[in-house]
Amino acid sequence: MKVTFLGTNGWYDTATGNTCSVLIQSKEFDIILDAGNGIAKADTYITQEKPAYLFISHFHIDHIAGMHTLVKFRFPQGLRIIGQRGTTEILNTFVAEPFTVPLTHLPYPVMITELDEGEHTIPFPVMCLPLVHPAPCYGYRFVIDDRVITYCTDTGVCDNAVTLARNADLLITECGLKPGQESPGWPHLNPENAIHIAKKAHAQRLALMHFGAEVYRTLDDRQRVQKRFRKDCPGLVVATDDLTIDL
Ligand SMILES: [Zn+2]
Ligand SMILES: [Zn+2]
Repeated sequence: MKVTFLGTNGWYDTATGNTCSVLIQSKEFDIILDAGNGIAKADTYITQEKPAYLFISHFHIDHIAGMHTLVKFRFPQGLRIIGQRGTTEILNTFVAEPFTVPLTHLPYPVMITELDEGEHTIPFPVMCLPLVHPAPCYGYRFVIDDRVITYCTDTGVCDNAVTLARNADLLITECGLKPGQESPGWPHLNPENAIHIAKKAHAQRLALMHFGAEVYRTLDDRQRVQKRFRKDCPGLVVATDDLTIDL
């Protein structure tokens, strides 16, 4: 299984990358996590022949801005979009005329599924729980090809992130803040917070993404995080756009 980071910036695009999107290529499915501007690169990695899934964490624009590029894809087996309650109404407002081609007019069928928090099989097992963020935001735990992948962006430190990441082979989480930086009014993680969650959950590997565009101005800023925390967290991966992890 391959996990490819299509967009690793939080908030907005800069020379360091696009806004959030991650591609999981499993044996049977192509699964995309969030639709920031990075999603437009997905077709450089996938054939589009497999059933495609798009999980939306929340509706801040750095997680859905790329939805206007969905019209470039083909997905002969259709695209299933999955999110929290209210997803259908919100996406049909955002992905609509006069802004872009509506979901109902894409060149392939789109089905939206709204999940309550808890465990589901769709057909692979997924658990979703709310995170701590100014807008309602889901974290997801997937079991695919005998591996556990957890995706928790955007959040402060919370028990649900630990629950979702329990014994995960890969925890993907956000790094909106610099080491030591706090943002109690608008919760995000700094590297220490992310490592704390990964250790508490006994996650094997921790991939950081959603680097705040305003605070991580260069890729060197990200690499400093890797250097500083690699001893403390041997499974640490500082993601950049187009990085692939084999699981
Ligand atoms: Zn965000
Ligand atoms: Zn957000």
